[in-house]
Amino acid sequence: MLNRKHNLSTLRIDRFDLIIIGGGATGAGIALDAASRGIKTALVEKGDFASGTSSKSTKLIHGGLRYLKQLDIELVRETGTERAIVNKIAPHLCLPEKMLLPLVKGGTYGKWSSSLGLFVYDFLAGVDSNDKRKMLNKKQTLKKEPLLDADRVLGSGYYAEYRTDDARLTIELIKKAASYGAVPLNYCKMTDFIHEGNAITGVVIEDVITGEAINVSAQRVVSATGPWVDHIRAKNQSLNHKRLHLTKGVHLVFPREKFPINQSIYFDEPGGRMLFAIPRGRVTYLGTTDTTYTGDMDRIVSTTADRDYLLAGANSAFPELKLTAGDVISNWMGLRPLIHEDGKSPSELSRKDEIFVADDGLISIAGGKLTGYRKMAERVVDLVIDKDDLQLDQSEAITDEIPLGGDQAMTNKEVKKYIQDVSERISTKGLDPYYGWYLVTNYGKQSEQIIAHLSEITTDIELAQEEIRYNITHEMVTRASDYFVRRTGRLYFDIMSIATIRQPVMDIMAQELQWDDKRLKEENAILDRLITDATTYYDQEMN
Ligand code: FAD
Repeated sequence: MLNRKHNLSTLRIDRFDLIIIGGGATGAGIALDAASRGIKTALVEKGDFASGTSSKSTKLIHGGLRYLKQLDIELVRETGTERAIVNKIAPHLCLPEKMLLPLVKGGTYGKWSSSLGLFVYDFLAGVDSNDKRKMLNKKQTLKKEPLLDADRVLGSGYYAEYRTDDARLTIELIKKAASYGAVPLNYCKMTDFIHEGNAITGVVIEDVITGEAINVSAQRVVSATGPWVDHIRAKNQSLNHKRLHLTKGVHLVFPREKFPINQSIYFDEPGGRMLFAIPRGRVTYLGTTDTTYTGDMDRIVSTTADRDYLLAGANSAFPELKLTAGDVISNWMGLRPLIHEDGKSPSELSRKDEIFVADDGLISIAGGKLTGYRKMAERVVDLVIDKDDLQLDQSEAITDEIPLGGDQAMTNKEVKKYIQDVSERISTKGLDPYYGWYLVTNYGKQSEQIIAHLSEITTDIELAQEEIRYNITHEMVTRASDYFVRRTGRLYFDIMSIATIRQPVMDIMAQELQWDDKRLKEENAILDRLITDATTYYDQEMN
């Protein structure tokens, strides 16, 4: 169903009810909602699916505790409810992850405010009674996390959150949308609108791989281009006083043994902001910064200032670690597409989404959170249905009942058991049991398709080759970086493995996708640049 050639020819011929520009979580969510209601939908993405902000987040499906501090009750209630729904429809991609909130002298949260705040947080999200927050004293806190500064810690809150993989969530939404008949395409850039009179009747796209221009007809165009929303609004002159304010967020990755915390921690840094430290597989990641960004949107880099700020924050909370720049093995950074508000600093800007409707019919959506993708999609599709005369299978959204990553969602218990099962099967072949966890938390039950020939897999390399075959066939991997960065997250979470598997994976890609030497060189150059940027700290932003 995710066949690029086939989808390109459909795009050339068919007329669509709806075309979505942008294949991040928001656009992918809209595509699934629309297609599952019977709307004939296409989606074009200028890079790979999730290549914008939707592969660069902190990767939490969370209620946003800090929005409670800003008294944004509605946002907390909605993201809290959505958190439970995403966990239900994709439990292998939205894993329960307890968060520790240390209370320190002079910190953001005091004992009573955090106790009450976390109680309200759980209440708004409808958290199960046995999962409700616990307040821990100093001794209990240090037992949970001995690396915290014993001189400063007063106690902690211990509460429920969920961890995800943003890029994998996006690709599963795209795959599911395609299974309902949507036509998604990566590496297709929308370059212009087509108008008849004053109304938009389609878009011009460029196939970025071949340079071919294609006119696509559609009754309605939605821009879900995240940080690029104003660029698209400028194309039809619909920019008004409401503009985006982009802020950059950087994450640093450490080998687990250099940052060996026991669970996720949301802690104070000396400047008065809060940072996350999150263990995941072989690494722990730390983030994030929040600074106004005006540089190159297609090449965002980490600066030495970003890195030093995060290192100082972590060393202040975990003084024994003495982390240095040399301990960092990878990084990623993304742009938050926030709505500008005069006089507010980046951290004070609301994370609420906003929909803009232009006179020629363009609907744009920006802001919001990964966690709220489904509700954002529902609001957009409801608006489309309200404006257009469409033949529908369903008038209401049904995405809260559509499982992602397979035909049937597992329960949290079944996910745990399945991880154990796959790890055992894999280790009998002499492979690191880590890959059991890795496969299940990326692919869920679809792991069976990757290990279908387990009897023939005896090395990490052979496993990676089976994986890339699956990604090419089922997940529209078009460039090498799609595999190394977004389908597998290896650039961030297992950068060391790239040196070993790179050539064997490239061999399969070249063979299956019929790359000549020129294309292979181009793919290697793109990957080299991405690896360089994930391991380099620059003096200033790219412009
Ligand atoms: P994007 O993912 O940026 O997608 C827009 C897409 O449009 C891009 O892929 C782009 O290539 C494409 N595009 C642009 N122009 C064109 C064109 N002309 N033609 C075709 N395609 C085009 N949220 C959470 O819920 N939890 C978190 O833990 C969290 N952490 C975050 C941490 C950071 C540092 C940041 C930056 C954000 C975080 N967020 C988090 C917010 C969340 O990541 C975003 O709200 C979400 O990913 C935005 O998705 P999107 O689809 O709107 O935008």
